Amino acid sequence: MASAINNITWVPDLLFVNGRFEPGMALACDSAGRIISTFDISPLRELLGREPRGDETLNVREPESRVAFKTRFVRLHGRALLPGMVNAHSHAFQRVIRGRTEYRAEAGQDSFWTWREMMYSAAERLTPEDIYDASRMAFTEMLLGGITAVGEFHYLHRTPEGAEYSEPNLLAKQVVRAARDAGLRIALLRVAYARSGFNLPPNERQRRFIETDAETYLRHAETLRSELAKEASEVNASEALGDLRGAWVGVAPHSVRAVPLEYLRAVRDFARERELPLHMHVAEQPAEVSACLAETGRTPVALLADCGLLDSRFTAVHAIHISAAEIGSLRDAGAIVCACPTTERNLGDGIVPADALFREGVRVALGTDSHAQIDLPEEARALEYHLRLQRLERNVLAPRAAASDERGHRMSALAARLFECATTHGARSIGAACGELEAGRPADFFTVALDDPSVAGASAEDLLPAIIFSLTRSGVREVAVGGRLVVEDGRHRAQGETVERFAALQRKLWG
Ligand SMILES: [Zn+2]
Repeated sequence: MASAINNITWVPDLLFVNGRFEPGMALACDSAGRIISTFDISPLRELLGREPRGDETLNVREPESRVAFKTRFVRLHGRALLPGMVNAHSHAFQRVIRGRTEYRAEAGQDSFWTWREMMYSAAERLTPEDIYDASRMAFTEMLLGGITAVGEFHYLHRTPEGAEYSEPNLLAKQVVRAARDAGLRIALLRVAYARSGFNLPPNERQRRFIETDAETYLRHAETLRSELAKEASEVNASEALGDLRGAWVGVAPHSVRAVPLEYLRAVRDFARERELPLHMHVAEQPAEVSACLAETGRTPVALLADCGLLDSRFTAVHAIHISAAEIGSLRDAGAIVCACPTTERNLGDGIVPADALFREGVRVALGTDSHAQIDLPEEARALEYHLRLQRLERNVLAPRAAASDERGHRMSALAARLFECATTHGARSIGAACGELEAGRPADFFTVALDDPSVAGASAEDLLPAIIFSLTRSGVREVAVGGRLVVEDGRHRAQGETVERFAALQRKLWG
């Protein structure tokens, strides 16, 4: 039973619990950053005959869960409070090419592959400190938008010349340090990258990514895993109380193009033994599918299924060019798909078949990937909107039956589904305990100002669809990770310095 008096109870106008916004509810967090309970604050208000004040510590008895604790109160006037969102796919350093690839590369067609040349030209030049600055900029923008955890698909491992650093995880650690300094939880998904592709000569421009043999890759991944786990054990004093890790490791074979089968199987076994999330780019581009067919006679998902890669800790990033049979394999395995619609439209990748995935019960998480934009509600709405344009229909991803709550209020089951993609499915994908406001989980949340023009006038019932379809970042006002505010009144605590250092980096790279 928590009794320390540095417990904090947040009292917004509306709290998002059990899939809807409730007035008169409060969120209590302990000093370690874990949720103690969500409770109805009206009996306490009646007892006091007023609002609890911010500067007083009161005893709270919550009859339903028989929890009693002392807490101080923070009233969040005019705010709705929601669980923090999870960005399940990011390449933080790619923030440096934002706005620099919106030109036709040459006389011919511009595509994913020409964009990739621009991305490589940036990747070749970044120092470890540059990677820290670019990552901290991307992570700060995530926090400002209500994202509280990220899955960072990290593939820069080596020096610009292609040599191993004396600390082989130097660059991964720069990214983890950037997340910690920004205040964001991070799953560092360490990427395995062995080759340019099937029957292709080595590409010089990939020399910072390549670890040609599985042994080297696994040795470095294991070192990083155990180092981060050791640090995490200090915050997770008792695992039974819930997972409060700030940083942990997952593995990420880059794609079937970049990792041959034997290597892939070794990474699979490593991940299984340690119960790590395993992420992989899958079927982002038609050329990747045809190359896979040429090499193995199978499509990427079929190949992964045959190799025993698919399970409930597997996330297929993109999964655009896939068949009904492949969706069935993902479903049977309980695997997750991470869609990144703002990047996929920016790169001309195609449209994620989210309707077929939803119909089959495949969980879909969301990622901001190349960071053309960092805005998770935009990813959620794009998942739906791209299908509307393709199918000439509305509410494509809504369940067939109209939904209402027990009071007969109309509920947007579509918005609820899309918000799950942005929270619980993302958390599951990266192995995080956040995503819902529930006792024992980390106190990761964000608030929305109810008077922000983008959502003003919404009722409690309409607020979630208003957030999913219309919220702009100006509406996100407070963001807390582990019960600590990192964004207050719409500003990150280190925003000035982060932006200044990033602007200096951009001048150095492109000036
Ligand atoms: Zn990616």
